[in-house]
Amino acid sequence: MLNIVIFGPPGSGKGTQSAKIVEKYGLVHLSTGDLLREEMARNSPLGIEVRKFIDKGLLVPDEIIMRELYEKASEYLDAQGMIFDGFPRTIIQAEMLDRMLVKREIPVSIVLSVEVEEEELFNRMMGRAQDSGRSDDQAHIIRHRIEVYKNQTLPLMDYYKKQGKIAVINGMSPVEIVFERITRAIDTYLSTEVILPEIN
Ligand code: ADP
Repeated sequence: MLNIVIFGPPGSGKGTQSAKIVEKYGLVHLSTGDLLREEMARNSPLGIEVRKFIDKGLLVPDEIIMRELYEKASEYLDAQGMIFDGFPRTIIQAEMLDRMLVKREIPVSIVLSVEVEEEELFNRMMGRAQDSGRSDDQAHIIRHRIEVYKNQTLPLMDYYKKQGKIAVINGMSPVEIVFERITRAIDTYLSTEVILPEIN
């Protein structure tokens, strides 16, 4: 069982890299952002509720996230492992995830922290805005999402560092190169159970 958390600021390429990881390692992809966007597209009661937060660049409340994720994760009890993308985003979510996984005796194996400089993040998200059609890919909301990340999500680095699970991946390179770094981190973990702390 391989449970990966992919962690990084908005625009760091988590979604793109997750898709490649899923293909190579046969994991189930759990993206809270994708789940929430599906609900918004369907205009479900949940979608209407979460839009209020997402369109402002705010985090969706922890209770909503946990309920949705728990439900989704329980569909995949037989999976070879999961990749959590865009989740956890707060310390509370990380603690809840640990409790959920401990019950099933499958803790988080490795946390990939994809690091990209702030201006590059901004430029990437502005660049994709046209294609993504995402209501939160607008200059002032992007800036806000980056701030929310720094304030609410970055503290998770310490949480996972204390658990010795962080592999820092240099994300300032083309997709394929970043993916090579990620596979190096995962393959090292799989063959030796050692987590390389920093991969360039
Ligand atoms: P990005 O990381 O590029 O901003 P995501 O698709 O992961 O994209 O998330 C988009 C938005 O969905 C976030 O800005 C936030 O409002 C909401 N969201 C996603 N995951 C979570 C989460 N785990 N907790 C709270 N809000 C979330």
